Amino acid sequence: AQLSRKDRKRAQVRVSDPEAPKPVTSFQEFATRYGIASYLANNLEKYHYSNPTPIQQHALPIISEGREVLAIAPTGSGKTLAYLLPILHLLKGPSGEGHRALFIVPTRELAQQIYREFKRLSEGRNFRVCVLTKASAAGSKEQQVLSKRFDILITTPMRLVHLIQQKAVDLTKLEHLVLDEGDRLLELGFLEQVDEILAACGTAAGAGPAADTGRRPLSKYLFSATLSVQIESMARSFMRDPVRIVVGVRNT
Ligand code: ADP
Ligand code: MG
Repeated sequence: AQLSRKDRKRAQVRVSDPEAPKPVTSFQEFATRYGIASYLANNLEKYHYSNPTPIQQHALPIISEGREVLAIAPTGSGKTLAYLLPILHLLKGPSGEGHRALFIVPTRELAQQIYREFKRLSEGRNFRVCVLTKASAAGSKEQQVLSKRFDILITTPMRLVHLIQQKAVDLTKLEHLVLDEGDRLLELGFLEQVDEILAACGTAAGAGPAADTGRRPLSKYLFSATLSVQIESMARSFMRDPVRIVVGVRNT
């Protein structure tokens, strides 16, 4: 009975690229196929992530193999872990040489939620993470350049744009950029700010493999519960041949 339930779940998922890496059916399979560090496997177990949700089954391998992702899956379907886990896997460990992963969300509450999930999943690896929200925007910090020791930034667009304008943040070492709740981030009101962030990441110039700098190219991921045709085409304009994963929408 359990197998057929899994099959039904899989049948609700559509992946745009038939050549994309095949989904995993368990975290164990993911761990074995990609050789994930034991701290990640331990934390999955410790925090009772027993089986990957459909979006996780598909996104984990696709992100792990270096593809960009446009993911559309309902609220509560586990989108956070679907990008956090493969990104932590790819980062391997803290480097202290600059910000390597950036998570952009529309609200402070979502930034805190990602931070909480990150803390659990990263236990045992000393990644340094900075949550930038209005609340942390107080006076003195504004003057100083954000420390390169932060491997990971979690932020709302406004707060980051402010730092960019003050030349207080360097995004040129970035390897992973996530737009969470991407539909809201690319709507009027946020769009200008997200554009400014993309420019600061050097997305236009740095789209190809960075052979000369020796670092991996910037990968971008957009996760959302919904995505209009217009917003999707906007996203594609700055993404690099993303794999589109849609969960649980039968009539599109
Ligand atoms: P979404 O971003 O799609 O709305 P979240 O990433 O916030 O969903 O996840 C919703 C809840 O499900 C969170 O409490 C999260 O910890 C939990 N969760 C995510 N993946 C799993 C899993 N594989 N097994 C059990 N719980 C999970
Ligand atoms: Mg979410």
